[in-house]
Amino acid sequence: MSNSSPQIIDTVIIGSGLAGLSAASRLSAQGLSVTVIDKGRGVGGRLAARRIGDAVFDHGAQFFTARSEQFKTCVNQWIKSGVAEQWYQSYPGQPNGHPRYRGVPTMVSVAKYLAKDQTVIQSTRALELNHDGCHWIVKLEPEESIIARSVIITSPVPQTLDLLDKGNSQLTSGIVDRLQKIQYESCIAVMAVLDAPSTLEDPGALALDEGPIAWISDNHKKGASPLPALTIHASGEFSQANFNRDRNEVGKELIELARPLFGSAPVNDFQVHGWLYSKPTTTDDEASFLLSASLKMPPLVLAGDAFAGPRFEGAVLSGWSAAEQIKDVL
Ligand SMILES: Cc1cc2nc3c(=O)[nH]c(=O)nc-3n(C[C@H](O)[C@H](O)[C@H](O)COP(=O)(O)OP(=O)(O)OC[C@H]3O[C@@H](n4cnc5c(N)ncnc54)[C@H](O)[C@@H]3O)c2cc1C
Repeated sequence: MSNSSPQIIDTVIIGSGLAGLSAASRLSAQGLSVTVIDKGRGVGGRLAARRIGDAVFDHGAQFFTARSEQFKTCVNQWIKSGVAEQWYQSYPGQPNGHPRYRGVPTMVSVAKYLAKDQTVIQSTRALELNHDGCHWIVKLEPEESIIARSVIITSPVPQTLDLLDKGNSQLTSGIVDRLQKIQYESCIAVMAVLDAPSTLEDPGALALDEGPIAWISDNHKKGASPLPALTIHASGEFSQANFNRDRNEVGKELIELARPLFGSAPVNDFQVHGWLYSKPTTTDDEASFLLSASLKMPPLVLAGDAFAGPRFEGAVLSGWSAAEQIKDVL
């Protein structure tokens, strides 16, 4: 039996979505030892792509915008590296807005790019966090732990609260109240393979402000799929009301509701995914939350799109902010 002392790393990051990977890139660039863990099989979190046969779908985030100068610089670098490109600036009947970018070939490519030189452990869930005053002991499933000087948690906030409830963090009621104010809407996503091209006009996407369908896009026109392949997102209201219904039934219903938008092409096959925490509807005021600041515990920062803005860019900015906070306190 080995009697060597356990390895202690600088930072464990829970979540290999945009926030977690953005934080990891910044911290490891500073020479810190970082491990990212995620319960999912692949990196990206809510950037998610799926195949049905040869058809390819982005079924989580569909595009991203770049509003801050620092994020624009980052996007330009992704474009140069070939993992992102501008998809469109406006769709029929809508005035020009911010350019919409997409990952190439799918949104997940950006996450894979960010994960390239990082230590990322997938299919591993953080079960419990305990500290001994100096270090965090992150209990993992299955039966292992990582010991670190600091932790960044990037899961959707209700999941973060559940996780913190299990260890010895003992949050104050003020902190719990602050975090419970963060709410999310759910989203039922349908992925449908078509037998013929859709009638969606270029750029192959439509966002709708009213009704049960919030978004429809043709992944073939987008450039992600070799075959006509629709992503249909139900509205927050429809998704909440129908989240626990039989997914196959809801999928069929959404396809028929979307039918006037994509034409008469027969649907060969479809799958349905339910995002319980799709986008935050209320967010925190800070870009990341150094939760340990007022508590007797080693550094613990919360990050994600619930902090620096409820979208792709917000998740990246929050990850960067979390890295800054860790760098300052370690
Ligand atoms: C359907 C949908 C459509 C969207 N459309 C757009 C869009 O068009 N444009 C846009 O800008 N944004 C969009 N978004 C939002 C965007 O996807 C998110 O803002 C962003 O991806 C959030 O990144 P994140 O890193 O904060 O969180 P996440 O991507 O959720 O990452 C958190 C990670 O933590 C992991 N995790 C959670 N708990 C644990 C645990 N206990 N142990 C280990 N790992 C754990 C999860 O598996 C996940 O990978 C959309 C989201 C959805 C779902």
